[in-house]
Amino acid sequence: MASSDLKIVDIKAYPTSFPLAADSNVRLGIGRAVKKDAVVVKVTTAGGLIGWGESHHARAPSTIAKLLETTLKMLVVGEDASNVQGIWQKIYVKQLGSHGMGAGTSMAMSGLDMALWDIRGKAVGWPLYKLLGGTSKPIPAYAGGISLGFQDPAALVEEARAHLAVGYKALKLRLGDNPKDDLARVAAIRKAFGDDLIILSDANTGYSVADARAVMPGLDASNVAWLEEPFPAHDYRSYAEAKSFGRVPLAAGENHYTRFEFSRLIEEKAVTILQPDLSKTGGITEFMKIAAMASAYKLPVHPHSSMTGLNFAASIHVLASLDHPGYFEGDVSKNNLFRDVMVSTPYKVDANGCVRPLEGPGLGLEVDEDFLIKHPVIEGPSYV
Ligand SMILES: [Mg+2]
Repeated sequence: MASSDLKIVDIKAYPTSFPLAADSNVRLGIGRAVKKDAVVVKVTTAGGLIGWGESHHARAPSTIAKLLETTLKMLVVGEDASNVQGIWQKIYVKQLGSHGMGAGTSMAMSGLDMALWDIRGKAVGWPLYKLLGGTSKPIPAYAGGISLGFQDPAALVEEARAHLAVGYKALKLRLGDNPKDDLARVAAIRKAFGDDLIILSDANTGYSVADARAVMPGLDASNVAWLEEPFPAHDYRSYAEAKSFGRVPLAAGENHYTRFEFSRLIEEKAVTILQPDLSKTGGITEFMKIAAMASAYKLPVHPHSSMTGLNFAASIHVLASLDHPGYFEGDVSKNNLFRDVMVSTPYKVDANGCVRPLEGPGLGLEVDEDFLIKHPVIEGPSYV
């Protein structure tokens, strides 16, 4: 059988988790992190090519894995893996389109689509960025992920100092505790590191409209470069109201699904920092459509990235292929086994705070399947 036979013969989904040690229980707007979850998708073709992708866990990893291994698998097995547009459309028509914009289906198909692009790259021997029409170039990264959470300002400064020592020139602070303590932490970081540091902020939907009104003058004064998700994704009215509170631009997108929700986000003009997540918004195929819309509106795209080395690698590839790339979200969380152990080639940040796409075919890395078997899902919420 030739490896050129791209017919999909199997789809396997691994829901996987590991507990976080007490020193990694970061507190942020959605609670205290107690474990990390992910869903890793493996697609096999008749010719023996294997593609890997990541679906976001949706806080119920078994559910997403089940959807992948039942309904989506039954729709997709037998299709040509290179036909990403056709497969996406088939799932959309049969699942997402007819039954509404369900986040679960969008997350499940995201990992499947990422795996299909991995196969496309492996089939022709090209890295993903080249397949998407990009080139290898330095992509500025910021220190993000589940880090820099609610803590004493002095401790926060010390954590930030360690991240900046690696090379990062930008970092993201967690807001959504309360306006007073949030602003004290932002001011402490600005004072400690001076005007050149790029400070981003993320409330993880922890604010009321009144909270956003209260913090905005202080964020303006500290020259914060964006305020991310002050409100839940569907609360368009509050975003529209908060836009006038100050100069700091509003960011959102990690919980917006498919080009259809981004179409509204862009057209309403309250959010100008767009953060689609490749493991949530519909995969690489859908991300590129969102990016094309953003390009027409001259809005940069800063992909949200969680949780494993698969999504990190894919995010850097797509950034290297955009005409308007924003930041790569570096994951500076402590002890992320999905980043450091599960994949063969974790990304690296250089002394200028930049990353580059991997050069191997497809995503450019392999997954340790034994790791997935040894780290089965831990049911329950990952933030308490
Ligand atoms: Mg966020």
